[in-house]
This record gives sequence, C-alpha cells and structure tokens, in this order.
Amino acid sequence: MKSGYEGQLMILLVDDAPTNIQVLNETLKDDYRLFFATNGRDALRLVSESPPDLIILDVIMPDMDGYEVCRALKANAALQDIPIIFITAMRQQEDEVVGLELGAVDYITKPFNPAIVRLRVRNHIELKRQRDFLARLSNLDGLTGIPNRRALDAKLDREWRRCQRSGKPLSLLMADIDHFKSYNDTYGHLTGDDCLKEVGTTLQEALERPGDLLARYGGEEFVALLPETDAAGASRVAGRMLQAVNALGLPHAGARETGQVTVSIGVATVQPMRTGASTNLLLAADSALYQAKQQGRNRVTTWSQPAADA
Ligand code: GH3
Ligand code: MG
Ligand code: MG
Repeated sequence: MKSGYEGQLMILLVDDAPTNIQVLNETLKDDYRLFFATNGRDALRLVSESPPDLIILDVIMPDMDGYEVCRALKANAALQDIPIIFITAMRQQEDEVVGLELGAVDYITKPFNPAIVRLRVRNHIELKRQRDFLARLSNLDGLTGIPNRRALDAKLDREWRRCQRSGKPLSLLMADIDHFKSYNDTYGHLTGDDCLKEVGTTLQEALERPGDLLARYGGEEFVALLPETDAAGASRVAGRMLQAVNALGLPHAGARETGQVTVSIGVATVQPMRTGASTNLLLAADSALYQAKQQGRNRVTTWSQPAADA
C-alpha cells in the first residue's frame, strides 16, 4: 500500500525496548513517516511539538506507563483526537479492557503479525482522515467556503475565556451587505450568491493576524472576531474592509447612495469580565451595525457604552 499521500502521514512509535521499535519500523516505514520515543515523557513532548496522525503505544514502560501517557493525551483537548493503538505483551483480557476504556482505538498483543498491524493502522488512519474531513466540513459555510456560525460560536467562546484570563481586549465586527434584497431582485439569486462569495473573500483578505477569524454569520452578514485587539485596531480593520468592498466596484443599480455593492459595519470592543457573557459582544456589534444602516450605510460605526452603564 504505497502512495504519495500516505507517505506524508506521521506515526509516533513509543516503546522502551528499541528492538520493538525496530520491528514496528520495518513493518510501517514504507508507508508512513515514523518517529520514535522510548519513554512516556518524551512521547508527550513529541506529540505536543508535532501532533502525529496515529500513536502506537507500548503499555509497560518504566516511570510513566502507556496508560498514563494515554490519560494525559485524552485530557488535552488539542491532542485527544489522535488515535492510539496499544501494543503489549500483556495478554489478559482485562488489560485490553483498560486500554480500550481509556479511549484507545485498538489493542494489539505481541508477538504481532506485521500484515495485520499494517492493515489495522491503515484502517484507523483512514477513519481519522474521514473524521477530520467531516469536522472541517461542519465548520465551513457551504456557499462561501468560509467558516460558519458554528465555527464562530466555538471560537468566540474560547477567545472570550482567554481574554478573561489575560485581561486583553476582544473586538468583534459585524458586516452586512447593503440593499442585498434589492440586489437579488435586480440581478437574480445566483448572481447574488456570487456576490456573497466575493464579498466574503474580500472581507477575509482584509484580516491580517493569524488569530483573526471571519465567519458567515447568517444570510448576508459576516462577523470578524479579532482577539487581543483594541477599539482603535478594530476600527482600522473595519475601515480596510469597507474600502476593499468599495474597491471591488461591483455594480448595484438598487443601491441609491453609491450605485455599487457596499457593506455597513458595526464594531464592538470589550474587556471580558468574569461575569459577562460573550453574546453581549455580538449584541453590541449588532446595535452599532444598526446605527451604521440608520446613518446612511457604507460606513463603520463603533459601539459605545450607553451613558447609564458607563
Ligand atoms: P440593508 O441595507 O438594510 O441591509 O438591506 P438588505 O436588503 O440587505 O437587508 P434584508 O435583511 O432586507 O435582506 C437580506 C437579503 O439577503 C434577503 C435575502 O434574500 C438575501 N440572502 C440571504 N442569504 C442569501 C444567500 O445565500 N444567497 C443570496 N443570493 N441571497 C441571500
Ligand atoms: Mg443587508
Ligand atoms: Mg441582514
């Protein structure tokens, strides 16, 4: 089973006996990129440095055994989805139960048949690829291919808690295409779809930091989440977005102000408090957006705290 793609997949082999690693290496080296650890601590370090696609893990090792390594990985949200196959000389069924209960995908006893190990590894890697593919798909908007509301909600939750801990500001922009109903009415729904894709890509390209996220929030609304960004920074990004959409120069006969496709953007920035809810940030950006529409569209409006709460 050789292909260019399989060659790129990485497997970590963990065993305190180098001869066992050698045997597994011989079994798998033609199909995968392999790397090795001879104790649990090195294994955990290697996994967090460059997460492999699968781990083959010896159970009995001095200091930290395979079960402990498995527990540590399953407790880490970023690493818990990496499939683990235990490989061990322990032949008791109870040992196998322990390993599988800890979340391992499979359990192989030594001495093993190389052909069976190869096939099991191949099956588990294929399942992992399918899971990853579905996970990616479920976070992307079908029309525009940019992250969807689900992806935004998850990231907003994470970033909110991160900013609570760090005390840094969190900004959110809500952009809505102006007079889009009339765009559809004039040019048809399919041209409307093309316009949505183009505007989405343009807004996405206006983001600069790797931690920023643009998501399609609903129909013709997009939300940008800007972690660790203050109000001035957020306004700059919103200004860039506004200009970039203007620069597209997409004709829109029904847009009475400009004759072309434009967006209105509401900006909100908060210092997340222990008690506050992340949805308030969305509400604040939404109310700023409402003001931008009221004031004539094709503009950026920044939310400011109502006087009573200030
Ligand atoms: P405003 O300037 O106040 O934002 O007016 P608007 O017409 O853009 O706002 P409204 O909320 O009245 O209309 C939004 C329109 O967006 C209506 C809907 O048909 C269109 N829309 C929502 N999702 C899609 C989509 O996936 N494709 C297309 N082509 N149109 C969509
Ligand atoms: Mg609109
Ligand atoms: Mg709208």
